[in-house]
Amino acid sequence: MSLKGKSVLVSGAGKGIGRTTAVLLAGKGAEIVALTRSAEDLQSLKEEIGCRTLVVDLADPAAALAAAEEAMPVDYLVNCAGTTILESFLDTSVESFDFLHAVNTRAALILSQAYARDRLAKGLGGAIVNVSSLSSSFGFADHTAYCASKGALDAMTRVMANELGRKGIRVNAVNPTVTLTPMAVKAWSDPAKSGPLLSRIPLGRFIEPAEVGEVIAFLLSDAASMVNGVALPVDGGFSVN
Ligand code: NDP
Repeated sequence: MSLKGKSVLVSGAGKGIGRTTAVLLAGKGAEIVALTRSAEDLQSLKEEIGCRTLVVDLADPAAALAAAEEAMPVDYLVNCAGTTILESFLDTSVESFDFLHAVNTRAALILSQAYARDRLAKGLGGAIVNVSSLSSSFGFADHTAYCASKGALDAMTRVMANELGRKGIRVNAVNPTVTLTPMAVKAWSDPAKSGPLLSRIPLGRFIEPAEVGEVIAFLLSDAASMVNGVALPVDGGFSVN
């Protein structure tokens, strides 16, 4: 599966799944436009793969739109930036609920609109992958705002696939379970919490970031030319339980 000569905008490319995906796509021949919040992460990624870089806080909608427009044109888009705040349902604040929706959901809307407008204005098709989560369809304790933001991202993915698919832009989501990145260490470092989850994964372990990146690469590529509107679990079989 080659992405030779294709350009890909990857949000959240500084760390974790986004960074691993950017490196992996570059290894398949893609030119990467890396977008994230921390300049030092982009500098080290640039030294590693020679990508274009954009520093932006995606929680700011105007800044997100300006960065997205600056990033164009690209052939494909990966909306991977995301964050979490752990609070019980009763303790979930309006501020954290709004913040997680701004970063995990609204930013994907803004970047995708800028990408799709640019592609359609040129009469071109394309592909978008939204990095969602298994949390979109499970009620993990202390993840109210996060689960809601990812459920909304899956719903938006379906609408995008319906509307943009008719114009030649495929839109899919990947839905990993715990993937071993800094975010996961923050959320799942307590064995009392991770143990029961791990026991439900038939393949018996959490996910490596590259195992998500490979699925993203497939969904972007022509190998997935008739795949549109799926929310694809990358979960070692967690969902079958
Ligand atoms: P990391 O925390 O390791 O990396 C997230 C990246 O997104 C960082 O580069 C971060 O930049 C960037 N980012 C976060 N907030 C913003 C913002 N406001 N503006 C711009 N960039 C931002 O997370 P993961 O790699 O673990 O997660 C990546 C995606 O995968 C997320 O959407 C997450 O929800 C999803 N996911 C993760 C799972 C996991 O277990 N790890 C499981 C399922 C889904 P900075 O560090 O500078 O803030």
